This record gives sequence, structure tokens and C-alpha cells, in this order.
Amino acid sequence: MNTPDNTSKTSSVPVEKSDAQWREELTPEEYRVLRQAGTERPYTGEYWDTHTEGVYQCRACGSQLFTSREKFDSHCGWPSFWAPLAEGTVRYLHDRTMGMDRVEVRCANCDSHLGHVFEGEGYGTPTDQRFCINSISLRLVNPDEG
Ligand SMILES: [Zn+2]
Repeated sequence: MNTPDNTSKTSSVPVEKSDAQWREELTPEEYRVLRQAGTERPYTGEYWDTHTEGVYQCRACGSQLFTSREKFDSHCGWPSFWAPLAEGTVRYLHDRTMGMDRVEVRCANCDSHLGHVFEGEGYGTPTDQRFCINSISLRLVNPDEG
């Protein structure tokens, strides 16, 4: 017997919290972006122009997602990376909202929205991919400061 797949809304991720818990733990703006797939305004985020060395963690769960080594200047107004820290740290979802066909990037650990990934834009990076991530979805941790 085949069970129809109607579970697309319930994803199985290591960190699962109720909506009320997320609302309590995150600021309203963090909640809007991370849990409601919002987008911060370009050139307003904390990290779009940051060159500090370190590891970018998920703002919601602390999972390590990106590093400064893969960050590059895309001049798009959001932090841009050409690859995640490792395969499996992020997950991808097809996003056809807003009349666009995009690939959404989420934290693989807590399923929070991070941004989108674009391909083939001609940036001179090793992958020709651009992970366009909201600053507010990230927290930069400097390894020297622990
Ligand atoms: Zn997370």
C-alpha cells in the first residue's frame, strides 16, 4: 500500500520547535526572516560588506553554515557565499513564490529560512553559485574570540 506524501509541511529536522517557541526566542525581525521566509532590505544587514574571518552560524540554532573563506563581494546587498561550509549543512527547496523560480536555502538543522541560491551569474567564483543569505539569519563567530 502506498502512502501518499502529504507531509511536505512537516519536515524532519534535528531541531524542531513550535511556532510559539520560535516567537519567544527570536526578535520579531529574526522571526519574520527565519521562520516566515522574509527578506531583509539590501545593504541594511549586518554582514553584507563584512570581511572579518570566522564562521557564520545559524542565528536560530547555532549550526555552522558558512565560513568567511567562501564569502565574496557580489555587491548585491546581502552576504554572498559560493558554497556552504559543508554538504548537508543546508537544504534546498524549490520556491515559486513572488512570481519567480528560485531555490530557497534553509538550515538543515532547524529548517529556518536563510536565503536563496542562484547559479550561472558569471561571478568569478569556483562554483559559479551565489548563496544570497540574509544577515539576520546568520551570526558571525570569530574563532579567535571563541
Ligand atoms: Zn538553524
